[in-house]
Amino acid sequence: MAGPCSIESRDQIFETAKQVKASGGAFLRGGAYKPRSSPYSFQGMGIPGLEMMREAADAHGLLVVSEVMEISQIEPMLPLVDVYQVGARNMQNFNLLRELGQVRKPVLLKRGIAATIEELLLAAEYVMSGGNYDVILCERGIRTFETATRNTTDINAIPVLKSLTHLPVILDPSHSTGHAGYVPAVARAAIAAGADGLIIEVHPDPAHALSDGRQSLKPEKFAELVRQVGQIAEIMGRRLAPVKAVHAN
Ligand code: PEP
Ligand code: MN
Repeated sequence: MAGPCSIESRDQIFETAKQVKASGGAFLRGGAYKPRSSPYSFQGMGIPGLEMMREAADAHGLLVVSEVMEISQIEPMLPLVDVYQVGARNMQNFNLLRELGQVRKPVLLKRGIAATIEELLLAAEYVMSGGNYDVILCERGIRTFETATRNTTDINAIPVLKSLTHLPVILDPSHSTGHAGYVPAVARAAIAAGADGLIIEVHPDPAHALSDGRQSLKPEKFAELVRQVGQIAEIMGRRLAPVKAVHAN
């Protein structure tokens, strides 16, 4: 899964879609509702942005994953996304999780910035207890005393989660490291550790991104990384495969 932190323009999302597809990506990611630390930072394009991303993804044969921040966004997003992302800041928004339990589309649930593995699994139960069993767990780094990276990748979480649950486990090395230069190494480590996938920020012009440019890979770096993780996956007895939509719109 790859794409910009935020959907910024038609050109940006179409260009990224083209590159993600050419590199072997299966999903286009991009936020339309952004949980920014500052209320004065770019907050996202909302539904018009998602409509652009849907078009770009369809044009290139990709699926769409995007963050839902509140219950009122679930319905308007339904025809526009294939997977609802719940961000780290909403991992314990139990009302949102319960409501997503009623939806028949997969939920990508990100670990909270200071959540234990048990709390992540209990959050997943909130979705599943409503009858939606299609939950993907995502390690995205946790907050520690270390400041050299944005967060600390809890690589341990991958084998721990794999041993405790049948749910797919993926890693977001973009938010877990916060630096494009560290993303490839940590992404490779995740696949070697048994992760089922990766969600990675890719931007055609990271220096001018409206959010998370520092941690966004240039398309050519992403292409190289996909080749590498494909080889590591093979050693692990796995392979990269395009994912088909589970639920029709
Ligand atoms: C994101 O995926 O752009 C994002 C905001 O991630 P997280 O919720 O993990 O911080
Ligand atoms: Mn981001």
